[in-house]
Formats: sequence, C-alpha cells, structure tokens
Amino acid sequence: MNLKLAIQKSGRLSEDSIKLLNDCGIGIKSGGNQLKAVSEHFPLEVYFLRDDDIPQYVEDAVAHIGIVGENVLFEKQKNVSIVESLGFGKCRLSIAVKKGDEYTGSQFLQGKKLATSYPVLTQQFLNKNEISAEIHEISGSVELAPGIGLADAVCDLVSSGSTLLMNGLKEAETILQSQAVLIKTASLEESHQKLLNQLVFRIRSVRKAQNNKYILLNAPNHSIDKIIALLPGMKSPTVLPLANEGWSSVHSVVSEDEFWEKIEALKDAGAQGILVVPIEKMIV
Ligand code: ATP
Ligand code: ZN
Repeated sequence: MNLKLAIQKSGRLSEDSIKLLNDCGIGIKSGGNQLKAVSEHFPLEVYFLRDDDIPQYVEDAVAHIGIVGENVLFEKQKNVSIVESLGFGKCRLSIAVKKGDEYTGSQFLQGKKLATSYPVLTQQFLNKNEISAEIHEISGSVELAPGIGLADAVCDLVSSGSTLLMNGLKEAETILQSQAVLIKTASLEESHQKLLNQLVFRIRSVRKAQNNKYILLNAPNHSIDKIIALLPGMKSPTVLPLANEGWSSVHSVVSEDEFWEKIEALKDAGAQGILVVPIEKMIV
C-alpha cells in the first residue's frame, strides 16, 4: 500500500517540496488544481493541502507523513513527530514594534496589544517572560494592524524584514527560528515505516550531496602531502599520476561551508587547474 505524503498545495513550501521529491527520484508533477498525485517510481501518493491543515491530517493518519514549517507545526500542537529537518522554508517568527518605539526587551510588551496569526507561540513567549499582554489573533496581513490602531506590536513571520519596514515596523526580537520539516503520524504500520526509511535515506543522500562539492586539481608531486592534509575526502583523497612526469591529479570531496577557505589554502600549497563540480547523490 502506498505511503501518503501531504505537502503544501501552493505557497512558499510547494516548489521546494516537489523539487526534493524529484531529486529523490520520485517523479511528481506540481499540484495545479488537483488534490492528489501518485508517483510512478515510488509507492507514494502526494496530497496537496493548505499548510495549516497538514499537522491535523498527519495526526489523523489521513496522510502518514507531511512537509510543513516548524512555525505551523509548533503552533498547531498536534500529536506528530519530526523525522527530518529539510533545510528549506527558512524564516523566523519575530516580535516587531513601530519604527519609532524603543524596544528594551520583552517587558516593553507588558500591558500592550499584540496582533498575530500565531497565538499559541506568542502566548508561550509571553508566559516564559512573565509578561501579560493582550493577543489579537488575525489570519493575514498582520503587519497592517499597528498602522490602523488594532495593536501596538505584532508577532509575525519575517524573512528579509522588508514587509515590516514598508509598514512602519521594525523587528525587535526573534521568538522562533523555523525551517521545513518532514513529520510523521504517531504510529505507522511496518510496510509504511519501511517506505519512510527508504525515503529518509534518499533525502539524506540528496541533502548531503547539496552540501558538498567534488573537487579535482593538479599538483606537483612534492606538494601532494600538503594538499592531502587539506582534503580529507570521504575516506581519503584519490591521487592519480598525470601523463606529465612529476605531477598528479587529486580528487576529493569538500563541504560547501569550508569551500572558499580550502580553495585559498590549496592554491597556496601549489594546486593548479582546480575544478569544482556539483555532486548529485552522496551515499556514505
Ligand atoms: P496556505 O495557503 O497553504 O495556508 P500560507 O499563505 O499560509 O499558505 P505561505 O506564505 O506560502 O503560507 O508560507 C508557507 C510557509 O513557508 C510558512 O508557514 C513558513 O514555514 C515558510 N516561509 C518561509 N519564508 C517565509 C516568509 N518570508 N514569510 C512567510 N512564510 C515563510
Ligand atoms: Zn497557511
């Protein structure tokens, strides 16, 4: 029986969710107007839903698994568990105040009115800081609330902060860093758990590959030791002799984070003709 996955129908998580599935070799076309799609290459059925509904569908096991932002997941407080972080859909849930206000810390909010679409997370933040403030739940365009006198401050999602600025607000304090996660229902029968394990294995391979680059370079033999010390590789680097006497070619894998730093060090150590290529899948 197919494993059922819920993803956002149309919005900020849709494209990346479908891309991840396709990178995992699970051919899925984007939702368009349809409610569900079945993969031809993997026993997976994909449901296209509003992101807010995904935790409930997964709790009820209508979908066995789902892709949703942590912001929505933690707000909804459903009985589901996180299987894997996915590294996309990054944003933060922040308190924002009027540009002219001086935010001196959470006590600034004492006795004030806060507009938000995240009443649960906002209340948790207030409780943690022992602040009492009035929460106005609104479902969209929260950033307009202070301008029309509905609230003194907001608690809303931010990525660049430009929407806040356009509405005369400034970010004051982050209450949650969020990204998309894969979630699963509380209990899965064995056949579904097996399929989920396969899917997670593929997701990890794809994500690892995205975080690493394959690097090829030439170097005179006398500098090979120095270069190898800089390139740990998956086991150890491959060294091949070049037709040109006294020279070798070195192949290895470097992580995206330390990439530029390594390149400089490699050049200094005598490396030439450095090629860096993307890796499609990485199984370790
Ligand atoms: P739906 O119609 O599915 O309810 P929506 O309008 O609630 O869609 P989107 O704006 O598409 O949701 O955002 C979906 C998710 O994408 C958010 O819950 C959050 O996890 C993530 N996200 C990433 N960046 C941002 C951002 N800059 N603003 C809002 N959400 C973001
Ligand atoms: Zn939504």
